[in-house]
Amino acid sequence: MLREATVYIDGKWRSAASGETFSSTNPATGAVLDTVADGGRAEARLAIEAATAALPGWRAKTAYERADILIAAHRIMLERQDELATLMTKEQGKPLRMARTEVGYAADFLLWFAEEAKRVYGEVIPSSRADQRFLVLQQPVGVCAAITPWNYPVSMITRKVAPALAAGCTSVLKPAEQTPLCAIETFRVFEDAGVPPGVVNLVTCSEPEPVADEILADPNVRKISFTGSTEIGKMIAARAGATMKRVSMELGGHAPFLVFEDADPEHAAKGAALVKFLNTGQACICPNRFIVHRSIVDRFLKTLRARVEGLVPGDGLVKGTTVGPLIDEPALAKMTRQVDDAVAKGATVIVGGTKLTGETFDNGHFFAPTILSEVTADMVICSEETFGPIAPVLVFDDEAEAVEMANSTSYGLAGYIYTRDISRAIRVAEALDFGMIGINDINPTSAAVPFGGIKESGLGREGARAGITEYLDTKVLGIAL
Ligand code: NAP
Repeated sequence: MLREATVYIDGKWRSAASGETFSSTNPATGAVLDTVADGGRAEARLAIEAATAALPGWRAKTAYERADILIAAHRIMLERQDELATLMTKEQGKPLRMARTEVGYAADFLLWFAEEAKRVYGEVIPSSRADQRFLVLQQPVGVCAAITPWNYPVSMITRKVAPALAAGCTSVLKPAEQTPLCAIETFRVFEDAGVPPGVVNLVTCSEPEPVADEILADPNVRKISFTGSTEIGKMIAARAGATMKRVSMELGGHAPFLVFEDADPEHAAKGAALVKFLNTGQACICPNRFIVHRSIVDRFLKTLRARVEGLVPGDGLVKGTTVGPLIDEPALAKMTRQVDDAVAKGATVIVGGTKLTGETFDNGHFFAPTILSEVTADMVICSEETFGPIAPVLVFDDEAEAVEMANSTSYGLAGYIYTRDISRAIRVAEALDFGMIGINDINPTSAAVPFGGIKESGLGREGARAGITEYLDTKVLGIAL
């Protein structure tokens, strides 16, 4: 099936003016799934114009009217949960059960922000002058652009577009080139929910730069929200300064996973196996360093190894698969490079360590779930984000050393602590320079809590009450009586 009319502007599906297309492929099988419009500058410009023209009408709607549309989108997305999940598994690779979970998470943002739309409160501030009143209003920022990655190809869209819509902003989205079909189906949900023409616009494209250039140069775009690598995020944030756009940056991570001597090492290892191999390690909150007390590292490794050996790599559509492929060939090459570097510097491969081969794997991008022990800070894997199924294990001897090891990264997104000592849990959580901390818990995320990082992991928060304030400007009215 060819779906070349996949650019959605002003409520209409259209082809690229250039007539160019590109393909979306299944990372598990290499099969071409579909062909989509390859948008560029022209489409980006039209999309911004449509969003600009639609802004006055959308921001004038009441919060209740905007919420009703988001509630309809939530219902439609859940009605299509199986269909969307199957498409996601084919296009992105995660096992079907995990894809269903992601669609549920994506829908959560639609409902959460439908509710938050009605809670955009202002303030009345006392004045020192008896004849004066101060009112503080919260108003929509305006036209907002969003650039999203492939690893969570539906929820990363709703996490940005839902708060924008709730706040009264209009949007232009550029999705990742690897997952345009998920973006298209997400936009069909918006369309079918009754989002008016021009309020949400989609530019599928294979080359991000021309579209990003147009977005960044246009003074009508008042905000850009980006999720992706720190390298590209820094570049976009710097360029957004030229027209003083607001920015939200959800960038890379290098999460430490601390297991103290008083923790249950088996329980910690079970959690470690679940969160490390989530989405084949391709989640920004996946642990990138397991920092384990020397006294319990053998027990931790024994359980982790048993769990990893029990993982079933393969095509996510096949029943029983628990780990899917990596997204592409460069990702696979990065795994080999990080393992080779670690081994050359003294690490031991406990399990895995190589690309998977054989009939099930040869047409896809599969790397064996891997554990490395005797890992040290000088190894590339300790500073570069892995974004794949490799669990490097380091040891420590005391708490201060563990905290120092954990914080010795330029990233600051997620971190994990396993301990049965409540004082230590709080002390260490306060000392860690990360935006989200799991304490004996591997999922410190929900539509209801602020998601985001510090240091080079980003700026701003998504989800929660904070998520909508990112799309609101503050205005003060000083009134003389
Ligand atoms: P990426 O290369 O930075 O790509 C992310 C998005 O940016 C894609 O839509 C991509 O388009 C676009 N892009 C690439 N180069 C660009 C440019 N020069 N100008 C404008 N846009 C550009 O990141 P990725 O490898 O796809 O995603 C993985 C990264 O995302 C990891 O670092 C991960 O930690 C991070 N991430 C963070 C969060 C979070 O919430 N903090 C969540 C998920 C992922 P193309 O696809 O067309 O190249």
